[in-house]
Parts: sequence; C-alpha cells; structure tokens
Amino acid sequence: MIFKFFFIFFLIILIIKTTESVDSSVNVHLTKSRAELASSFKESLSFKTISFDKDDQNNKIDYSEFLRFHIFLQNKYPLIHKILKKTVINKYSLLFEWTGSDKTLKPLLLNSHYDVVPVVDSEWAFNPWGEIRNDNIYGRGTIDNKVVLMATMESIEAILANNYTQPIRTIYLCFGHDEEIGGLDGHRMIAKHFREISVKAEAIFDEGCPFLASNFIQGFEDIIAGVGVFEKGYLFYKLTSRINTFTHSAIPPQESAIGILSKALSKIESNPFAPVENIEKKNQLLQFFNGETIKSNPFLNSMTKTTTALSMVQAGTKPNVIPTTASAWVSHRIINGNSIEFVKSRILDLINDTRITMEIEAFLEPSPISSPFTTAYQILKQTIYQQFGGYNVKVVPTQLMANTDTRHYWDITDNIYRFIPIVGNFMDFVSIHGNNEKISIDDYIKTIHFYKKLILNFQPFSNASSSNHINKNLKINDYCPNSIYSNNKS
Ligand SMILES: [Zn+2]
Repeated sequence: MIFKFFFIFFLIILIIKTTESVDSSVNVHLTKSRAELASSFKESLSFKTISFDKDDQNNKIDYSEFLRFHIFLQNKYPLIHKILKKTVINKYSLLFEWTGSDKTLKPLLLNSHYDVVPVVDSEWAFNPWGEIRNDNIYGRGTIDNKVVLMATMESIEAILANNYTQPIRTIYLCFGHDEEIGGLDGHRMIAKHFREISVKAEAIFDEGCPFLASNFIQGFEDIIAGVGVFEKGYLFYKLTSRINTFTHSAIPPQESAIGILSKALSKIESNPFAPVENIEKKNQLLQFFNGETIKSNPFLNSMTKTTTALSMVQAGTKPNVIPTTASAWVSHRIINGNSIEFVKSRILDLINDTRITMEIEAFLEPSPISSPFTTAYQILKQTIYQQFGGYNVKVVPTQLMANTDTRHYWDITDNIYRFIPIVGNFMDFVSIHGNNEKISIDDYIKTIHFYKKLILNFQPFSNASSSNHINKNLKINDYCPNSIYSNNKS
C-alpha cells in the first residue's frame, strides 16, 4: 500500500516536472548555412587528436594538436566563448558552463570526447583528416565522437545567436580528451571537478547506441533508437602455467606448461556463462526477438550473458625447447546481474589447478541501470520522435555494447543515457574504428537540430516567450512494454 502511494506520488511529480520543463514554443533557426556547417565540421577533423596507448613504443600523443583544436573552437564559436564559462581541466579537457537562472535545478551534462583512434592512412579511400565528397563528410571522428562535440557547439551557438542567452537550468558541456584510452586524465578529472564543487547532475547524455537501421538485424524492419541505460563491466586477466622440467624436447614431461594451460583454456571456452534471468526486462531490445533468433545472432546473444574471449597466448621460443611457462590472456564482458567476484571465482573453480596463476589486469563492475521513467529519458525520447518522426522509430532502453566515459560519473547522477542521434547501416558502424568513417551532411545537420531541440525541450529560457511552457504532445511511458520499471502502469 505504502509503495502504491509513493508510486502515484512519484508519477504526479514526474508529470508536473515534465510538463513544466518542456517549451515547444521556442523556435530557434540555425544561423549558418549548410555549407558553412559542413566545412566547419570538416575542419574539426583536420586536428590529429589521436589517443595512442601510453605503452605504444612507436607513437606519442601529440598534444599540440589538442591545443590547436581548442583555438579552433575559440575562433569558431565566439558567442559560446563570450557567454559561457570555460574551464580547462587537466590541460586538455574542456568544460563549458552555461549558467542557469534557477540554481535549485540540477544541471544537465552533455558529454562527448574529441580524441580519436589512430588511422592507417593507406587503407582509406578518402582523406582521414577531413574530406567532403558526394554529400558525405569523411574523416576519423565523424561518428566517434567529434560529431557530438561539434553538433552541441553549433546548436548552442545558434541558440545564443537567436538571443536566448540564459537558460533556466544550467547546462555543462563536458569534452574529454582521452576516452579512447580509458578517460583517466579527461572525464575522470572532469567528474572529480564536479565532486569538488558539489555538483550533482539531473542527467548526463553521452555517446552511445546509434539508431539501428531497418534490417540491421536481418528480417527486422523497424528502426530502433536504442538508448543505452546501462553497460557491461569487464574483467581482463592473464593466466600462467608453470612447471619444473627438463627443457629438451627429446625428453618431454608427461604434462607441459602448454598442455596444462591449453586444458584450462578449453574448459573456460567450453563452459560459457549462462544467460542471466529476466535480462530482457532491463534490455528491452531483446523483447523484439524470439529465443532462437537471439541465440543465433552473436550481437543479441552477447546481450544476454557475460561473454568470454580468449585473445592472446604466449609460450615457447624454439621448436625443440620445452617452455616452463605458458601464458594466455582472457577477457570477459560482465553483464548486469553478474559481478567481478562471481566471474573470477567461477573461472578459478573451472580451472581447478594450482599450477596456474591468474593475474588481473583490468576490471570494471557492470554499470548501474538508469531508469527510462525519468523526466530526462522522457525528454530524450520526445526529442527523438520530434527530430526523426518521419521514420518508423521505436525508442527502446537497452544495453550499450561498449564502455564509455560515463563510468566516471556513476555518483554524479543516477540518470545516464548513452545515445547518438545518427541513423546508420551496418557498414557505417564497422567504419567507426575502421576505415572511411563518415557521416552524410544531412545527418550531421539533423544531429545539430537534435541537440538544439534536446536543449530547448529540457527547459524554457528566461528571455524566451513564456506563453506556453507545456508541451501537450509529451506522453509519459508510451513505449515500455513488460518493464521492470513500469509497475504495469504504462
Ligand atoms: Zn567514443
């Protein structure tokens, strides 16, 4: 009974908050031409803001490119640099604060990163550092993730140019510089800064699932806007087997280090983790498919359980010498419902051999799950419908396959949504860390409009017309079947 009361109470608050915060009357037009927008984006790709691994012997990160990128932003977005408060975090990450008039409202964070992964120039058919051809913009970072940074900058510059100078709710733009190598120097330090100034956020939007185009999964015709409400954790470790033996291959031992390790690896691989129960209630993308389809599709199947990947082995130096040690590297992506401890102890039980040691190299618990019943999620959904309403879109809370910098923000807000408003096909997503990464000019312009609408939907502006702050089209919970969150009240 008491729960029912709280639920209804919560629902009323949600409805009041949601209707208050949406202003459909604000109409902001983009002040720059299509060609101008495309050319600025192309220019942003020319900065080689590449994150090389710290232990990469052959390549060093060229931070002068990062600083040149800052100057480029300063020249391109004069209004933002005049009106918003800019803070440089840890030399290269950027934080812009657009201070709202109502300090009681928790701020909104729009996060992205401007570092990129390396390219193999010779494998590209286009200039990896920016080229416009046939209405497409090519270059490293067009999707991951300069597009979001540039689109948020263009949208706010346009809002400012339309004389909407002060939001009611504070907005932060948080631009990390090392997401591709873990975000320890970038977003981790931005999050630390928020802790120091005691900022808790209403919500964070960060990179994440793009739209899944029609037939992305064979035979499935709807376009899905999957909003990542959680992501997997991981456990990476090295296994080493050791024996004391003659090392000449003419006098072989009964069991070699290689043999011992191979048996362990075979056990690990032939005993996969079981699917976790009710995962389709958290990851509602799975509700569109039957059990057989999920099992036979590697993408969907990996969403049901902790996965195991044997990724590297190392043993021996010569054909006629028996090594005394052998090593292998294993990585698990841990699903919500399992934990690092559970995965580790299950693997040790499976191996059950004291001649093998496990050294953990990296780990992360699965992220908490953000609710799709918050105001922020509903506004995100509303904005997707507004911008992409022409498509047959379904907005679905799901699990993001990869990890993002949002891992550094778990205590800054409960409401973290990972989404990128780009409709792609399978080949577009293969290109993200591969060759010929691209976005069409049309899609880029839509992305700018999307962020503009998202920002405006999130709040009325103090000097905008206040005649209509209620968006009558905003429906709560219009798509959330069979949800753990819904209490059957959709
Ligand atoms: Zn990224």
